[in-house]
Amino acid sequence: MDIPVLHRLSLNESPYPPLPSVREAMQRAVAQAHRYPQFRPDELTERIAAWCRVPSDRVAVGSGSVGVALQLFRAVVRPGDTVVYAWRTFDAYPLLAAMAGARPVPVPLSPDGHQDLGALLAALDHRTRVVVLCNPHNPTGSLVAADALSAFLRQVPRHVTVLLDEAYIEFARDTDLPDTPSLLDAHPNLLVLRTFSKAYGLAALRIGYGLGSVDLVGRIRRQQLPFGINAVATAAVKASLQAESELRLRVDTVVAERERLRGELVSLGWRVPHGHANSVWLAPPDPVDEGAAALAGAGVQVRHYPGEGLRLTVGDRNANDTVLTTLAGLPTHRAASRA
Ligand code: PMP
Repeated sequence: MDIPVLHRLSLNESPYPPLPSVREAMQRAVAQAHRYPQFRPDELTERIAAWCRVPSDRVAVGSGSVGVALQLFRAVVRPGDTVVYAWRTFDAYPLLAAMAGARPVPVPLSPDGHQDLGALLAALDHRTRVVVLCNPHNPTGSLVAADALSAFLRQVPRHVTVLLDEAYIEFARDTDLPDTPSLLDAHPNLLVLRTFSKAYGLAALRIGYGLGSVDLVGRIRRQQLPFGINAVATAAVKASLQAESELRLRVDTVVAERERLRGELVSLGWRVPHGHANSVWLAPPDPVDEGAAALAGAGVQVRHYPGEGLRLTVGDRNANDTVLTTLAGLPTHRAASRA
C-alpha cells in the first residue's frame, strides 16, 4: 500500500504559501487574464533592477531561473561546445546543456561536498562556453566564500561564461559571503542567477532573473519568448517586493529551523555539514539509505541519492519534528556514525 505523503521535503520549496497581500495582487491580475502581458517583460525587469540597484539593461527575466539559464545556453553555445559543472548538482544543468546542443562535462565534487574549483578550472578548454557554479550548492549546501570566488573568476578565460547560480543565496548567513553584483563590472563574462521560487516562495509562478553585463544580458534577452512572462506571476513578484521585510522574516525562520535540525541531528549522532541553503545534507558513512526508507515510511518525501546522500528540505516546525523523530528511531544511526 502506498504511504501518503504528509510532508514534501524533496524540492527545496518554501513551506509558506503566498502572503495575503501577494494573493490579492494575483487575484486582481487573474481578473484581467483576457489581456496579454507585456510583449517583453520591461516593467518587471525595471522593478527587479531598481530593487537590485543595477541598471535595467543588466537584468534578464525568464521562466524561473532555469528559463534564464536555458536562454543563456542558447545564446552562447554552438553544437559541440561544452558546459562544465560540478556533479552531483541540480539535475537541470545537464538537461539544459543538452537542449542547447552542448556536451555536458561533469566534474566530481570534493569528498567533503564542495565544488572543486581547481578541477573545474582544469576542465575548461577552447570548446567550453559555460562553467556553472552553484552557490550555495545544491544538494550539499556548501558555500564558495568571497575570496575563493574572486580568485576563481580571475582565472576563468573570457570566452567562458560563468553561470553563478544563487538560487539559495538568501538563506546563506556566512560573514564571508560574496557580494556578487559588485563583481559584474570586473567580469563581463559573469551571469548571476537568482529566483523568486525559493526564499520568495513563488515556485509555481516561474520567475527568475539574471544579472550580467549589458552585452551578455542583451544576448540572453534575445532568447526571451514573446509574451513569455505571465501577468499573474508578474503581479505576485511586484507584491512580494513590496512585502520584502515580511518575507525576510520567513527566511529567517527557515534558517533558524535549518540550524535547529542540524544541531539535533548532530546530537543524534549524524555528521551534518554546515549548510547554507534551505536544506540539510546527510551523506555516508551515515546510514542515508535506511534514513530515506524510514522517512518514506513516515510519509516524508525527501531527495534520496542512493548510496550517495539525502537532501532534506527545511520544512515547517511540524515537518522538521517528524524528520527528527523518524531519524532518532533508526537503530543503526549511532553505530554507523561512529564507524
Ligand atoms: N538552481 C538551483 C540550484 C536549484 O536547486 C533550483 C531548483 N531546485 C533552481 C535553480 C530552479 O529554480 P527556478 O524555480 O527558479 O527555475
